[in-house]
Amino acid sequence: MSRAATNLQIDSARLWDTIHETAKFGATPKGGVRRLTLSVEDKQVRDWFRKACEDAGLEVHVDTLGSMFGLRKGKDMSKLPVGLGSHLDTQPTGGKYDGVLGTLAALEVVRTLNDAGIETEAPLCICNWTNEEGSRFAPAMMASAAYVGDFTTDDILSRKDAEGVSVAEALDAISYRGETPVGTQKFSGFVELHIEQGPILEAEHKTIGVVDSGQGVLWYDGKITGFESHAGSTPMQLRRDALATLSEIVLAVESIARKHAPKAVGTIGEAVIANPSRNVIPGEIAFTADCRSADAAIMDALDREFRTAVAEIAARRKVEVKLDLIWRKPPTHFDPKLVQAVEQAAEALGYSHRRITSGAGHDACNLNTRIPAAMVFVPCKDGISHNELEDATQPDCAAGANVLMHAVLALAGVAS
Ligand SMILES: [Zn+2]
Repeated sequence: MSRAATNLQIDSARLWDTIHETAKFGATPKGGVRRLTLSVEDKQVRDWFRKACEDAGLEVHVDTLGSMFGLRKGKDMSKLPVGLGSHLDTQPTGGKYDGVLGTLAALEVVRTLNDAGIETEAPLCICNWTNEEGSRFAPAMMASAAYVGDFTTDDILSRKDAEGVSVAEALDAISYRGETPVGTQKFSGFVELHIEQGPILEAEHKTIGVVDSGQGVLWYDGKITGFESHAGSTPMQLRRDALATLSEIVLAVESIARKHAPKAVGTIGEAVIANPSRNVIPGEIAFTADCRSADAAIMDALDREFRTAVAEIAARRKVEVKLDLIWRKPPTHFDPKLVQAVEQAAEALGYSHRRITSGAGHDACNLNTRIPAAMVFVPCKDGISHNELEDATQPDCAAGANVLMHAVLALAGVAS
């Protein structure tokens, strides 16, 4: 690599300005962003991004699920491009960095290479994946999942939001149903920069997380059927209380996850009492459970131990508990060569770094099932994300973008 390329740094102030400039699309009073996928605000940021890409000389195309791709030509166009990017949609009360950092850092990498007059051997392709967050349409990360063939395009297009609007209708409403069939844009590899969304880097005073794995996920739907009866006249020993049962199940999930901590987490995030009333013993409750680990053997153990605990609690309390595993996503093991490229970039740039597991799901995790992928994490304040308070520092964002750029340069090669 030439000396100019070796010492190249992104423009920290320009990256910071773009993050704050685009945060106005869907800005909330508390300093966060509400930019639900395929909303009017999403169209605004997409239009901004498209123009910025075109101004940077990229050839922009949009696939039939609205994912945006900006191609920067390489010297050798017979080579597949190296992909980089993330997403521009947010949670309903989201922050300015989740997804945005990775997408705008990809743009900043291109701008920096343009300014320095650096041509890469392989082309580069910067990406904005549709609906990473999953808060308007399920599933989350739907476009990258369709890209790798987990769902058909038609299946995703037919998914509806809470108002009954389909993905197809929402894409048409903002004119982002593109021409390119999903999966047409190929990559030799993909690198995603993201805020950690957890507390580890900050606590250990590390600037860069070299993400080598992602947690697998077990999602359950549960239903407890006990018996509704009078809160005053039913003796304690005769009750079949669905909520008391759920309480034990919640504690069981917690204790199972703790037993395998720090390599597992477990959460009951939803519970709905049917016909709730102050003086009625709850007879029916629907609940969900979410268990995760980056270790496949521990995922098996979580599933086994959860089912055993639920069966024991149900039998002892004489209630029926139905437990359905509705989604099982295996752990992600990112591509060793790309992980190494990220690690070497962090090392060469002199940033403190450590290997880390991603606790959250990301488009890169989906992509990694078909193409080599890796991720770069930077710290976020107090580990807070999916919250308007989400915060990250300008130097950390710049460091992440520099690592992204140098990892991508190593993969794409610099033309001499
Ligand atoms: Zn994200």
